[in-house]
Formats: sequence, structure tokens, C-alpha cells
Amino acid sequence: MLAVTGPHATQEVMDAVHQHLPKPHDPFLDLVPGAFGEAGLKLTPRHYAYLKISEGCNHRCTFCIIPSMRGDLVSRPIGDVLKEARALFEGGVKELLVISQDTSAYGVDVKYRTGFWDGRPVKTRLLELVQALGELAAPHDAWVRLHYVYPYPHVDDILPLMAEGKVLPYLDVPLQHSHPDVLRRMKRPASGEKNLERIARWREMCPDLVIRSTFIAGFPGETEEEFEHLLDFMREARIDRAGCFAYSPVEGAAANDLPGMLPAEVREERRARFMAVAEEVSTAKLRERIGTTMRVLVDAAPAMGRRGGVGRSYADAPEIDGVVQLLPPEKSASS
Ligand code: SF4
Repeated sequence: MLAVTGPHATQEVMDAVHQHLPKPHDPFLDLVPGAFGEAGLKLTPRHYAYLKISEGCNHRCTFCIIPSMRGDLVSRPIGDVLKEARALFEGGVKELLVISQDTSAYGVDVKYRTGFWDGRPVKTRLLELVQALGELAAPHDAWVRLHYVYPYPHVDDILPLMAEGKVLPYLDVPLQHSHPDVLRRMKRPASGEKNLERIARWREMCPDLVIRSTFIAGFPGETEEEFEHLLDFMREARIDRAGCFAYSPVEGAAANDLPGMLPAEVREERRARFMAVAEEVSTAKLRERIGTTMRVLVDAAPAMGRRGGVGRSYADAPEIDGVVQLLPPEKSASS
């Protein structure tokens, strides 16, 4: 027996289970719809939830096998997505994390079909979805955070909503590389886009914007020059939150057949060099925040905060970014 709870105390049961058996993070599987009303059975803590808007992907990145496992893009009907979002906010969710394999492509498969929500027509398209989510979140004073957004031109339309505070000024954009030849070998979506210019424009439109991204170092055939291009990009783009993987072949991926597989030490060495630059950028950007006041979502505050706690600012997505350590009252008063 893990705990004694009252009748219908679903959240307490889930809290007890999580306490004894922490759930490994998988943003693709975190939401299992259908078990408890519109909001589904939430496996995340009560105050945040993942909202999956589509399944599958129309791209064929050479290092990835997701399309072969999950198929082409299938967008969920916008009415269903918004119904679930409303149920989650009404159930106490204070932060909604929008996920998919390619959030920017929402609705492409259904040609941006017009759906219905609250008796009015709404297009199955990212801009309309984000607008509606912002409206749903507002009365609950809740956050909406966007993940897996590819830098297509139409993403620019979302930035004013971020600048107006309708959704968090945070974009998780999986860029993977900067050099056009590497991106072509990777067959990345939006590889022809001018990402530096795009990021600069986003920051002009919304100066508070925080960008998270992931990169791959040591992709087959990557030359030292191509890798240096990536380091220069990182310094110039000043990606706030960057993760980097040393390339590792996945069974069934097309990239396995590309020439120029690099030795494991080179891949690892490049990953470490990338992370050193990422750390410099991140430290400099965090220093700029010293002395500013930021709103924090409290994730844990034992003993009603008497022992301090842990929270996150808008710049920190749960489990993948940093945290804000909250001091106990006596220490914060003296600091
Ligand atoms: S990595 Fe490429 S192929 Fe894989 S899910 Fe993302 S966009 Fe689709």
C-alpha cells in the first residue's frame, strides 16, 4: 500500500504513485486521452499538462525513424483539442505545454479545414489554435508554452501573441544544425530558411523571447568547417537553452547509409565543444536577468513554503530547462 486517500481522490492517488515510482519523461506519451473525461488521465503533476495536437510527421529527416513508426501527420480536430484544453484549465492546470512532432505543421494534412469551437468556425491552423488557447488560458491566469515549432515563415504570426502576453514568449525550435549542407543531408524541414535572420526578427517583435533548441554534433560527413559554422551560429543566434547530442546511428535510419561516419571520439569531442559555447551563451543571458523581477510558477513548496521550494519562470519548461530555487522566508529576507 502506498497511501490512504479519500474517495474519488484521483490526484492524490497519482501523487502517491509518482512519489514511489517517478514517471520517466516522454512528451509524446505523457497525455493519455479518454480515461477521465475530456482531460484524460493526466500523468503529470496537477498544475501542468501536455496537450498533443497531432501525431506523426510528413518529413523524412535522415536520422529519424518516427515517421516509419507513427506515419504521416494526422492533426487532431481543433474542436477536440480546445475542448481538452478547456477541461485541463478547469481542472487546475496552470501551464499547458503544446506538443506534437511538428507543431508548425498543424492542420496541413487537413488543408487547414474549418472546424467548430463554442459554436463558431475556427481553422485547423497554428495561429488560430494559439489564439484560442491564449483566450482559454487567460481567465485561469495560466501559461501556454509551445514545443517543436519549426521555423517556417508563418510562425512569425505567433510572435505578436507572445509580445502581447497571450502565450509565453518561449519557443522550442529543434534546429539540429546551421550549415545548409548538413541540413540538406539531414533532410530537415525549413532547411532553406534563413534562421539567423528569422531569429533576429522574432527578437525584434518580442524582445523577451526565449528560444530552446537541440542540435546534433558529428553528423555523417560533417567537416570541421561545417561544425565551426554551427558554433558561430550558436554565438550569434544566442540560443537561450541549447542541448546537443553526439550523432548516434539509429537502426533503420537513412543516415546510416550516408558516407563519412565520424569516429565516436570526434562526435563526442564536438558535442563537448558545442556545449562549452552553449554554456557561455546561457551564462551571459542569465546574467542579464540579475536584478529583474520575474513571475514564477511554483512546482514544489514543502511545508507551505516554510522550507523554501522550487519553481520555474516562463523561460523554463518543466524537466528540460532550469529551475528557480526559492529560499525559505528567513533567508530571502536576509539576502
Ligand atoms: S526529426 Fe524530422 S522526421 Fe523526425 S519527427 Fe521531427 S521533423 Fe519528423
